[in-house]
Amino acid sequence: MIVVMKPNSTPDAIAHVEARVRSLGMKPHTILGEELTVIALVGNERNFTKELLLAIPGVDRVMEVARPYKLVSSEGRRENERTVVKLNPHGSIGERSVLICAGPCSVESAEQIFDLADRVKAAGATAFRAGAFKPRTNPYSFQGLQGEGLKMLAEVKRRTGLPIFTEVLAPSDVALVADVADVVQIGTRNAQNFPLLSAVGELRKPVLLKRGFASTLDEFLLGAEYIMSRGNGEVILCERGIRTFETHTRNTLPLATVPALKERTHLPVMVDPSHGTGKRSLVPAMALAAVAAGADALMLEVHQDPENAMTDGDQSLSCDEFAVLVPRLRKVAEAVDREI
Ligand code: PEP
Ligand code: MN
Repeated sequence: MIVVMKPNSTPDAIAHVEARVRSLGMKPHTILGEELTVIALVGNERNFTKELLLAIPGVDRVMEVARPYKLVSSEGRRENERTVVKLNPHGSIGERSVLICAGPCSVESAEQIFDLADRVKAAGATAFRAGAFKPRTNPYSFQGLQGEGLKMLAEVKRRTGLPIFTEVLAPSDVALVADVADVVQIGTRNAQNFPLLSAVGELRKPVLLKRGFASTLDEFLLGAEYIMSRGNGEVILCERGIRTFETHTRNTLPLATVPALKERTHLPVMVDPSHGTGKRSLVPAMALAAVAAGADALMLEVHQDPENAMTDGDQSLSCDEFAVLVPRLRKVAEAVDREI
């Protein structure tokens, strides 16, 4: 970290900061300028927060040099040393092949998801998604089929062999969901639910962490650090759009997040253009753009009857639209040296 002293600091004030820095286990290197004095701290700055330094009288500003998320960060790793998340029973995220995870927003019935899983698989999906526990803004809205829905998802996996992505909402349900899920999803509303992040950090299976709809990139990555700090290194980061002043889409989907995350971290990156736009007509273009931007995986909501879907029908592709999209995704993937 770098400490900038207030203008015209006295030698006593500078000496006080130096002493406090030493007491925190860091070595101060002081640079006396004509107008400003700057103290560079050498040591492991991640052992304390910059608030401790800001509290010292005489300190004006503090700048972090190392990223605060050491396990998630690509700092200290070679460029090609990227995490690959292997999926059960087959497939991976972070290798040459781009994963296509498709399925409805919610598990609605056994017939619905068995039919849909067959259809998305036939069209080229390489993983299946559906929510059994649904995080709904309105407490009177459909909350998902919960335990019964999980049983149906287990059957989808048995029938199709596709890895299953499904969301967990509460620490007390982690074991139940992880029993069926091949990838446990943490949704946008829980991106900073630290007890939940710690609970999935105890698992030894992949976790998909969605970006909080109001999280900065650093806050998003500190959420991933919670999971990794509990020993679970199999984290996939998912950009799913953020809330902005713009209202023409449900969320604003910032695709620059994809290369930015790849610069800052070694973790694989997924993009969810369904929640990212909230509009079916916009999903194909943003899915193609996400692959072009370097996404390792896509999450796409697909429904056999979007008009009558219980949740998120307006952003769900029909099975036919999904089937038309997959070969187009393949072409873009080839153009950026990937495959589907
Ligand atoms: C979902 O994937 O259905 C979902 C609720 O996503 P998000 O948390 O991104 O809103
Ligand atoms: Mn949804």
